[in-house]
Amino acid sequence: MDGDGIGPEIVPEAVRVVQAVASMKEDLDIEWVHLSVGYQSLLERGETLPESTLSGLADLDGWILGPIGHMDYPKDNPRAVNPHPIIRKRFSLHSNIRPARSHPSISSIHEDVDLVIVRENNEGFQPDRNVFAGSGEFMPSPDMVVSVRVISRGNSEFVARTAFELARDRGAKRRVTIVHKNTVFKMGCGLFVDCCREVSMDYPDIQCDEVVVDTFAMKLAMAPQEFDVIVTTNMFGDILSDEAGGLVGGLGMAPGLCVGPKYAMAQATHGSAPDIAGKGIANPYAMVVSAAMLMSWLGQRAGDRSAIEVGDVISRAMDAVLADGRHLTPDLGGSAGSTQMADAVIDHIRRVEA
Ligand code: NAD
Repeated sequence: MDGDGIGPEIVPEAVRVVQAVASMKEDLDIEWVHLSVGYQSLLERGETLPESTLSGLADLDGWILGPIGHMDYPKDNPRAVNPHPIIRKRFSLHSNIRPARSHPSISSIHEDVDLVIVRENNEGFQPDRNVFAGSGEFMPSPDMVVSVRVISRGNSEFVARTAFELARDRGAKRRVTIVHKNTVFKMGCGLFVDCCREVSMDYPDIQCDEVVVDTFAMKLAMAPQEFDVIVTTNMFGDILSDEAGGLVGGLGMAPGLCVGPKYAMAQATHGSAPDIAGKGIANPYAMVVSAAMLMSWLGQRAGDRSAIEVGDVISRAMDAVLADGRHLTPDLGGSAGSTQMADAVIDHIRRVEA
């Protein structure tokens, strides 16, 4: 699903890179299905999220979704919905995994950053997904708005388990930091922290600590190297993952994967970037690495070594292209286009990994 804005410029590049690695593996055959979503779908089919897309997704193992520029959708058209919260909710993609990693050759505020924010994805303060029907935000009088925040045991436990499993897989610092504000949200954040603590009992090999969100925002800005895996609620995670992306070179360097009990969806942290859309200069890193994360997740779930290797190969090739420095997009200080940067990744894969 290409999405909006820069989506049609970077999603096909991510597909091309994954396919380049997959085609080198005799025991791996990926069937690609293009599904309609977003503004283009509104123009062609009269809706931003056709039912055929939702039913098509249910038949697949994993999906790549480009950024969605829903702020530009017509406000008076009920068929111009924001697709991604609906997809995340419909398919129970409760955890959003957002890594932030610095690269020695890329200018960044900090060096040696390697952390992952795991954010609850389907409730919290987000009014477009935190209630079964209607909106989690309403206006009792013209001068007052009430926004409700939802925290449930089920989603909190799911996201906590995602975080602890990830800390175990990464094997680096083997640490999970719970970020919360239970000093004020005594019940909401209180329940979230309690669930994380309970899940932590199943992971005695992983160190678990707790930091209040405002203190964490400061520590993330000053000493991000301290952290490994961070688990937090929806809105805190949304804000902190953009901050983390900003520390390591910007939103073009911020990949993401939404995961649930059955499905996973590659979705970069950034939006549709209308300021650069159509110029062919968007950084494909976040989208390509999101797709690599999807392949790793699919491989781990199915016990498929080849699929896991696709993720590893792409990650190594991306690092090599960043280190080489000749084919970088303008946000990274280069002058290459999205396609040239992806070409360099594919070229590296064919020369070094074949
Ligand atoms: P944005 O992430 O689209 O852009 C913020 C800044 O980062 C811009 O300067 C942009 O040029 C830059 N940027 C983002 N991705 C980049 C890339 N791959 N390469 C180089 N530069 C990149 O945020 P915004 O401008 O606040 O939002 C634009 C639209 O995207 C809005 O409609 C918003 O609602 C939507 N949005 C969607 C998602 C999503 O689909 N997950 C996330 C955030 C925002």
